[in-house]
Amino acid sequence: MAEAPVLEDTERTTGRVALRKNIAAAMALSGAVRSTLGPKGLDKLLLDDEGRTLVTNDGVTVLETARVEHPVARMLIDASSAQDRAARDGTTSAVVIAAELLRNAWHLVLQGVHPSTIVRGYRIAEIEAMTHLESIAFEGNEDDLVTAVRSSLAGKASRGVQTRLADLAMEAARCVERTVDGTHEVDPTRVSKIIAVGRPATDSEIVEGLVLQKRRAHPEMIRLVENDTIALLDGALERRNMRGDVTFQATSPDVLEALRRREISRLLEDVEAVAAAGVKVLAVSGAIDDEAHRRLLDLEIQAFRRVPSNDLDLLALATGATVLHHVDALRAEACGTVLESRSHLIGDLHHWTVRGEGTAATLIARGSGDEIAEETSRCFDDALGVAAHLRKDRRLLVGGGASHVHLARHLRRVAEATPGREQLAIEAFADALEVIPRALAENAGLDPIDALLDVTAAQAEADDGGARIGLHLDKREPTDLGEAGVLEPLSVIKPTVSGATEAACAVLRIDDVLWARLEAQIPDDIQAQLDAMGGQDD
Ligand code: ADP
Ligand code: MG
Repeated sequence: MAEAPVLEDTERTTGRVALRKNIAAAMALSGAVRSTLGPKGLDKLLLDDEGRTLVTNDGVTVLETARVEHPVARMLIDASSAQDRAARDGTTSAVVIAAELLRNAWHLVLQGVHPSTIVRGYRIAEIEAMTHLESIAFEGNEDDLVTAVRSSLAGKASRGVQTRLADLAMEAARCVERTVDGTHEVDPTRVSKIIAVGRPATDSEIVEGLVLQKRRAHPEMIRLVENDTIALLDGALERRNMRGDVTFQATSPDVLEALRRREISRLLEDVEAVAAAGVKVLAVSGAIDDEAHRRLLDLEIQAFRRVPSNDLDLLALATGATVLHHVDALRAEACGTVLESRSHLIGDLHHWTVRGEGTAATLIARGSGDEIAEETSRCFDDALGVAAHLRKDRRLLVGGGASHVHLARHLRRVAEATPGREQLAIEAFADALEVIPRALAENAGLDPIDALLDVTAAQAEADDGGARIGLHLDKREPTDLGEAGVLEPLSVIKPTVSGATEAACAVLRIDDVLWARLEAQIPDDIQAQLDAMGGQDD
């Protein structure tokens, strides 16, 4: 049959061949990040076009940086990014579980189970999984929450830095906690960060309020203002330049001088307007001309120039002021209140610390060099994301594969009670979840099969159901990981399982792939694994 002309430049694969290739892509992708999973996971060195390097063991960073063109691989990367947005953690787990769900689905397809039956079975398993995870979760106390934040940094910084950042993240989350219209809100965007090089990362700290790397517009300006009025201007205090294509013919030097005086007096009028509104602290995004800051100095107004617009927004949140675009709009209602506005030195750099009624906090990320301080700041971001979630939902699960093994055991019982071929899919789903403890063991240099068998047996023998028993990667034996301090938010684990299911089911539903250009490369080792799995192109 002739292909429609529109498909002339495309390569087309359908049915089983398409599925097989798509699953190969998913596995190749998961293979790229699986070795980073867990505290013993290895780092990846990423190199970009311009030769810049980044060492990371964060799954989503690896995937988002890699230039992957395969559409199915992109679906998994999107699942990982969605996980990052939703929970700030669990990005590697989401991809690894999704790929494993697909690999197990392929085995079923080879046995003659239709992909849509598998999708139905996976959906049943997912719903069961959500309920079961909730049933084994527990409310954490304050210490547990800090422990869970620290677990989320596993493999990321040194032990000392992890502990420090976990404490700081919880402190910052507390600082920006508030109740809006009856709902409890923790907004991580209210936490800003500055980098200060020169001291170890463990000396990083949280300051309540907003700290900006800024000096006063004039060194003689007042240093400390307390309980007074602030105005924010997204504009400048400078002489207005003539704009447009105007030709100006001055007939005498006096005309020019008069013009200059007029400009200055207009500028000073603006300054007087600021003072008349009772403003004692002023931040502007543009410049402040000499004449203006001299007058500001006389009026005892503390002023800061060239404050970036996004910092003005943060100042607005912290002080309740509105960002104005012109002095003419300045009214008392547009002003905010500072409890404290202090200009001071951190190290040998000038900083401006502002505390207002609004919630805000600033991390001072330290490190002996730029790279370390930047890395401290990146790790803090992740920790803060997790901390913010935990202040809203304190439910925790035990990590290190303990919850995954428990869930897999539960699902196998569910499978037994499910009629039809969906039963096979639910079993395949249970097997797929065990990829987490297997990969954790593998990355720690343990035998994954023995490790999994040991944990499963230890859980089955435990009187309480064994949901806390997982593999201790140092002791190398099944242990109560809750006591060992490996805790994870329920709000991280749940979306890894549901996101992975969604991505896997979306791939299973594809049975026709039209390639506009060349097919993406499948690495040789993955191709070899696939060939070993059987089911050659028919
Ligand atoms: P992800 O991107 O999925 O968060 P990570 O590399 O952060 O990947 O690894 C998270 C996994 O490591 C989780 O399953 C977590 O329970 C596990 N984990 C963290 N700390 C430990 C530990 N000390 N012992 C065993 N497992 C741990
Ligand atoms: Mg993690």
